[in-house]
Amino acid sequence: MELPPIVQAFAPVLRARAEDVPTDRIKTPELQQLFEVMIRVMRAAPGVGLAAPQIGVPWRVMVLEDRAELLATLSAADRKEREREPFETRVIVNPVVKPIGSETRTFLEGCLSVKGHVALVERAREVEVTGFDEHAAPVSWRVSGWPARILQHEGDHLDGTLYVDRMLTRSFATDVSAKEHYAGKSVAELRAMLGI
Ligand code: ZN
Repeated sequence: MELPPIVQAFAPVLRARAEDVPTDRIKTPELQQLFEVMIRVMRAAPGVGLAAPQIGVPWRVMVLEDRAELLATLSAADRKEREREPFETRVIVNPVVKPIGSETRTFLEGCLSVKGHVALVERAREVEVTGFDEHAAPVSWRVSGWPARILQHEGDHLDGTLYVDRMLTRSFATDVSAKEHYAGKSVAELRAMLGI
């Protein structure tokens, strides 16, 4: 299967509100194929989430997962600080992501559609997402930590929002620069260094 390319900022499809999927279409071969393609594109990138507009499809669909092999690059301390644990692949159709409580976390974040860059982004620590899974069954998932960040990031995509709209702008860096200047520093150290 030839995989579609990941659309890069600031293509119009990344800036529009994606459309609701009629739930009676979730089980159609067309949608089932979309889910499969999205999962493959996410894994090939590799990434931990993908929204349909990122492959040029203006529908409210997201896929997400976190795999042990991706986590292997992080130290145990980094994993703990980010509350990042592996979780199984999820397809969520017409997701509604609601922050729970007022606690937030700020970490470096990137996007497959803003290739080669990272920045600090403040997000709710905990969210609840509701929607439908790939079998058209209703889903409700309350989660905190890194999965909550992914859900907020992908949910934003469906509303035409990119992390660069929310980032602490002074922290915006290329991957190469981040590796040189940010690696091994805590978020508090980064903030102090950047004056934010
Ligand atoms: Zn993204």
